[in-house]
Amino acid sequence: MKTDKLAKTYQVESEKHFRLKDFDPADTGHWRSKESATEALQQGIARTAELQDKLYAQDSWALLLIFQAMDAAGKDGIIKHVMSGINPQGCQVFSFKAPSDLELQHDFLWRTTRDLPERGHIGIFNRSYYEEVLVVRVHPEILKSQKTPPSLVGKKIWEERFEDIRSFERHMARSGTVIRKFFLNVSRKEQKRRFLERLDEPEKNWKFSATDIRERQCWDDYQKAYEEMIANTATEHAPWYVVPADNKWFTRLVVSAVVVDTLESLRLAYPKVDDAKRKELEAAKKLLISKK
Ligand code: ATP
Ligand code: MG
Repeated sequence: MKTDKLAKTYQVESEKHFRLKDFDPADTGHWRSKESATEALQQGIARTAELQDKLYAQDSWALLLIFQAMDAAGKDGIIKHVMSGINPQGCQVFSFKAPSDLELQHDFLWRTTRDLPERGHIGIFNRSYYEEVLVVRVHPEILKSQKTPPSLVGKKIWEERFEDIRSFERHMARSGTVIRKFFLNVSRKEQKRRFLERLDEPEKNWKFSATDIRERQCWDDYQKAYEEMIANTATEHAPWYVVPADNKWFTRLVVSAVVVDTLESLRLAYPKVDDAKRKELEAAKKLLISKK
């Protein structure tokens, strides 16, 4: 089955009236089972590897993939599976947790800016500056503990942050960093099931965190914050993908399709060899053959 429409189906480019409830976390498109999607996913992973090789050789574009989600939506698994075929030399993953003292000494885009991918590379953000309009919005006391001068923290703070993020991403796009953002859309029911699994299965106990259960109590506030975040920061050059996340195999298929689509759209090619370089290669070959 083809995956070429998958990316577009879940893409949000600009949608002021975006509603999260229009997206079903249990959706699996035309796919009926994990087995039916395995081959398509393997093909996607292999294609990503080929394209990454060209991205690296061409050394011009950079790709930034941002993952945001409620706990247990499967961010870690996605990163592990979808990126499994690529060359680690051209890819880096960064996870962003609560900011350190040093990070709080700076503006909210500082810490992630340091870790942006260089040309030719794929950068993955497991959480990102978007936490600044999510966890910080759901828990306003975090905003108070940040060191921004109080006179600059007014009623419009979220609108201002959205505007700053949009400008920042436009700047990155104009410099050659392609940004794709994923919201892994898990349902409340499925999150509960996965938390219980973490409690019941010894090999999954390590994944359990009491904080996650506390955050779950704020489910509706988070959904609202995600909805507003997507409505305000989905743009043509940095779209959001609202990826159904109740079935991990389908989440992986969609993310992989988006990565492949994005890299294909760059029309990547190995650098062309010019006459001078060709002569250099020929001379090198002669030398190699003529000597022991
Ligand atoms: P994850 O939950 O992503 O799998 P983890 O469990 O390994 O990662 P945690 O210790 O849960 O790591 O750290 C992530 C926590 O840090 C999340 O609760 C997140 O909301 C919080 N966080 C991230 N960025 C910020 C920020 N800018 N301000 C406050 N809290 C933040
Ligand atoms: Mg966590």
